[in-house]
Amino acid sequence: MSGLIDQFGRRIEYLRISVTDRCNFRCQYCMPVEGLPWLPKSDILSYEEIRDVVTQLAPLGLRRVRLTGGEPTIRPELATLVRMLRDVPEVEDIALSTNGVKLPALAAELADAGLDRVNISADSLRPERIATIARRNLGFEPSVAALAAEAAGLSPIKLNIVVMRGLNDDEVVDFARLTLEHPWHVRFIELMPVGEMANLTLQHVVPSDEILARISDVFGPLEPTSGPSRGNGPATYWRVPDAAGSIGVITPMTHTYCERCNRVRLTADGRLRTCLFGDHEVDLRTPLRAGIPLAPFVHQALTEKPQAHALLQLRNGGLKALSQVGG
Ligand code: SAM
Repeated sequence: MSGLIDQFGRRIEYLRISVTDRCNFRCQYCMPVEGLPWLPKSDILSYEEIRDVVTQLAPLGLRRVRLTGGEPTIRPELATLVRMLRDVPEVEDIALSTNGVKLPALAAELADAGLDRVNISADSLRPERIATIARRNLGFEPSVAALAAEAAGLSPIKLNIVVMRGLNDDEVVDFARLTLEHPWHVRFIELMPVGEMANLTLQHVVPSDEILARISDVFGPLEPTSGPSRGNGPATYWRVPDAAGSIGVITPMTHTYCERCNRVRLTADGRLRTCLFGDHEVDLRTPLRAGIPLAPFVHQALTEKPQAHALLQLRNGGLKALSQVGG
């Protein structure tokens, strides 16, 4: 069998690679404050092993990869992995999802190694509020991180905001205002109440339609736009007329986009997860370490990729936190 095509005819060309399960933040919606039982180092794929997975999937149709976590920038020498992946000829696009704390220090080195672009998670523009949501005060400023990424030549730059009623939903207009002058793509994500985030519930979800309505109340009617030229995923995009950037919404709770799904995930310990929610995953680490070709395992996983995620049925496949699967 050739090609990465699932049982519903969706072509899979995008792999999200979690390079670590650890994080320097403890975002209220993502990870318990005490952390999780971390994976032992021997369980975590080495950079060479990650490169080998990508090298085996590339001839089957893999074209884009994203490094995520946990927080990928806390794994030492991340640029080494970027350089290895850049050397895989079929890989057209290498992206990074980060909380941005280390971006001012690392952006130039990562760009130099071949990183194309970055998504920065930024749930507030107010330092004290970031510290409350992330439950860590690391002096993170989203605009500083985005400017550092821009200066390094990473493009496009996306800012991802998880919107929570009563916690940060009063900032959607401030975030949207950033797009007037900066060519950034500000994307509002509907909170997914998963795992053990017992204090955050469906009542904290702010539907994307409400977010867009609040923004257009201030800036006038928004124009639909195609969004960034590279890396269009589940977001739909809008623009304040004549703005430099765009406004996106990602709507796991109110509108499904699973029919367009083109992605699978590799966990830090080498499991291929075909859907963010649901218990569909296949161990690639054991065959990889035994020198057995991965293609049959990957094709098997794709035959079981569900048609749609089971989030609304609250079937999350035993996930305690999105940090376990790279978001
Ligand atoms: N540490 C990196 C970062 O901050 O982007 C990568 C991993 S993080 C798990 C990836 C994305 O998942 C972040 O944008 C985060 O806000 C989002 N996320 C985590 N838990 C979420 C939840 N319960 N609902 C919505 N988004 C969530």
